[in-house]
Amino acid sequence: MKSAIYPGSFDPVTYGHLDVIKRSANIFDELTVCVSYNVMKSSLFSVEERVKMLKEATKDLPNVKVDSFSGLTIDYAKEKNVHVIVRGLRAITDFEYELQIAQTNHKLSGGELDTMFLTTALEYAYLSSSSVKEIAYFNGDISPCVPDFVAKEIYNKYHGNNK
Ligand code: ADP
Repeated sequence: MKSAIYPGSFDPVTYGHLDVIKRSANIFDELTVCVSYNVMKSSLFSVEERVKMLKEATKDLPNVKVDSFSGLTIDYAKEKNVHVIVRGLRAITDFEYELQIAQTNHKLSGGELDTMFLTTALEYAYLSSSSVKEIAYFNGDISPCVPDFVAKEIYNKYHGNNK
């Protein structure tokens, strides 16, 4: 069985992430989306909240599982006996950062772990969780960026229940 993991912050999940998830789920027999504790980023949602939203957003994809981990991706992959990481590439600006992580993971895993990149569908290339949060913070329309139930959760964080 071919399995892969798709690690990331997913703070929160966007249509860009969901596009990568759906396309990877067509390539692999099993895909585990892993919410990671990224020590370099402060987050709006707790890991539990991010996992819950991802589970809801992927509930119609039978071969997609959602999990969370804290620590190195290589350790998680080893524990699950998975040899492929999936990541999305939006633009050249993602490339340098992603290349470094992919090479580090390959080296640290003793060559056991490879990274597969999917390029973003053009309609989602501009999307990031940070820009979605900024738009919502200033009461903009984020309906083209995230599922409705996720939009509600973001507005709720920033503005309470009045939006
Ligand atoms: P991280 O903090 O690990 O970069 P993110 O949640 O920001 O986590 O992103 C997780 C992965 O999803 C990364 O590979 C990122 O490049 C990819 N990604 C983010 N936004 C999009 C998008 N709009 N389209 C495709 N891939 C995306």
